[in-house]
Amino acid sequence: MDQAHALLVASPGLGHLIPVLELGNRLSSVLNVHVTILAVISGSSSLTEIETIHAATTRGTCEIMELPSVDIDHLVEPDATVVTKIAAKMRAMKSAVRDAVKSMKRKPTVMIVDFLGTNLISIDDVGVMAKYVYVPSHAWFLALIVYLPVLDKVVEGEYVEIKEPLKIPGCKPVGPKELLDTMLNRSNQQYRECVQTGLEIPMSDGILVNTWEELQGNTLAALREDKDLNRVMKIPVYPIGPIIRTSGPIVKTKLTENPNGIFEWLDKQRERSVVYVCLGSGGKLSFEQTMELAWGLELSGQSFLWVLRRPVSYLGVSSRDDDHVSNGLPKGFLDRTRGVGLVVTQWAPQVEILSHGSIGGFLSHCGWSSVLESLTEGVPIIAWPLYAEQWMNATLLADEIGVAIRTLELPSKKVIGREEVAFLVKKIVAEEDSEGRKIRAKAQEVKVGSKRAWAHGGSSHSSLLEWAKQCRLVS
Ligand code: UDP
Repeated sequence: MDQAHALLVASPGLGHLIPVLELGNRLSSVLNVHVTILAVISGSSSLTEIETIHAATTRGTCEIMELPSVDIDHLVEPDATVVTKIAAKMRAMKSAVRDAVKSMKRKPTVMIVDFLGTNLISIDDVGVMAKYVYVPSHAWFLALIVYLPVLDKVVEGEYVEIKEPLKIPGCKPVGPKELLDTMLNRSNQQYRECVQTGLEIPMSDGILVNTWEELQGNTLAALREDKDLNRVMKIPVYPIGPIIRTSGPIVKTKLTENPNGIFEWLDKQRERSVVYVCLGSGGKLSFEQTMELAWGLELSGQSFLWVLRRPVSYLGVSSRDDDHVSNGLPKGFLDRTRGVGLVVTQWAPQVEILSHGSIGGFLSHCGWSSVLESLTEGVPIIAWPLYAEQWMNATLLADEIGVAIRTLELPSKKVIGREEVAFLVKKIVAEEDSEGRKIRAKAQEVKVGSKRAWAHGGSSHSSLLEWAKQCRLVS
């Protein structure tokens, strides 16, 4: 019998590509099935995406096919958001995906699309037996998305103006400060795309979600059993997380900045003493916020490793590609903090950094991959949510799970001052802080739980096997 074949389709953008590559890697290594990844690359041919694909190809666990991008400029408004553009691109790619699948000698047993590729679920003449959606985020976010079409009907006016949090059956309600950025303006096309995703997900055969039973048991139970939620979604949900890149030898690429220098520096620091600051693949701050963050780090007196990106603007003027990244820092900052802090400006080997024993806390924008990379290493988080579903993530981490502290106001709305930055940084690593101690202990507990979920017979391992049997990837 032919080896079973799983086909994964990744939407453009690193935030979609990385989780799909990691899922493919896991399917290949755990289930011993053939995995093909169809990667739709951003029109701009992002160098980071190409490097990421190159690194994944070198690993050799999956076959990777890049799908040539199509021009969608005539299909979207010039000021369309990234989500709108990706959704339009994935719709425009439908026939290319169909052709690619049809031309495959080894027919896929199952097709898995990511969150922005749900329109591909309706491809039905290519001989694929089953279609699943991969949600590389958590169960509360999934519940909101599948319930959004209902909220869209019953809630009047803008969500940002609601007095009461939005009720999702069986789940924690979503308050105005936790809305997805796609929900902030209901007349924007990206909101319609999000509602459409909520309608399309339940048309699949099931959902794989990057969380685990012990982390979000109540929400997963609601997704499976709540009768009101089941009215909109009756398909099975398989929690298979955490699925993240595991640390390995650092491959020096054009994009990683002297990785050895980073680790030489980390090796010299005390255990669990360094705060790692990184706002994901796209998180940028204003000039004012960059300055305050720098002052705050300096004021805290704690060691830090900062992955610095060029601020979005300098005093109201958009920054230019040739502006030096460190232009956004206070005068003399790099000299004064030499030894205490290290600033890097290129792509950082984040997984390896978080697994280094000297890292004691992570100031993160709370992108879900960053969150999981931190939790699986037991590193507590300073939640600094900026976009997408990160405000929900911050609430989940700080208020429900108890592995994070957060800013008083949302960093996306208000500049967080240096005193608050210093306060948070000290709290997350200082030994004598009792709240910090509690959060650090919880982070260790979650780390142990995350390993247990993926141990042989653990909840996520079993869930993946159950799914694989269900869709006949394994017998
Ligand atoms: N990342 C990295 N080096 C960097 C910045 C980001 O390795 O300098 C990786 C990070 O480890 C994570 C991903 O990029 O795997 C970012 O994903 P996440 O979901 O956290 O946030 P997004 O960038 O999608 O907002």
